[in-house]
Amino acid sequence: MKEQSVLLVEDNALNLELATEVLRAAGLRIIEATTARAGLDLARRLRPDLVLLDIRLPDMDGLEAVRRLRQDPLTAGILVVALTAQAMQGDEEAARVAGFNGYITKPINTRTLADEVRRYLAMAPAGGPS
Ligand code: MN
Repeated sequence: MKEQSVLLVEDNALNLELATEVLRAAGLRIIEATTARAGLDLARRLRPDLVLLDIRLPDMDGLEAVRRLRQDPLTAGILVVALTAQAMQGDEEAARVAGFNGYITKPINTRTLADEVRRYLAMAPAGGPS
C-alpha cells in the first residue's frame, strides 16, 4: 500500500514538532508548512491525502485557506481537517461551511492524534484525490 501523506500547516513550532513526530512514528509521510500560503502552494504541488490545517496562521486564517483549497480544482477533493483550539458549536459549523471535513482540537493529544488522523484518512476516496 502506498504511504499516505499528510500536509501539516501549523505556525506554532512546538505543535508542529509534536504532530510531525507522532504522525511519522505512525508511518505517515509528513510535509510541513508554517504559513497558509506555503501550505496552499505545497497542497497544489504535492496533493497530499490529507491537510491538517491550523485555524490561526500568521498570513491568513484557516477558514480562508480551506476556501481557497476548495476553489482550486487541483486541491478541491483533498481531505482537510482543522487543527484548532476553538471547538465551540458555532465554530464547528463555520468550519464545515468553509470546507473542512472535520477538526482535531488542540492542545494536541499525542496518544490519540495518529488514530484521529487515520480515521479521517479512511474517508479518502480510493486512490486518493484525483
Ligand atoms: Mn497558529
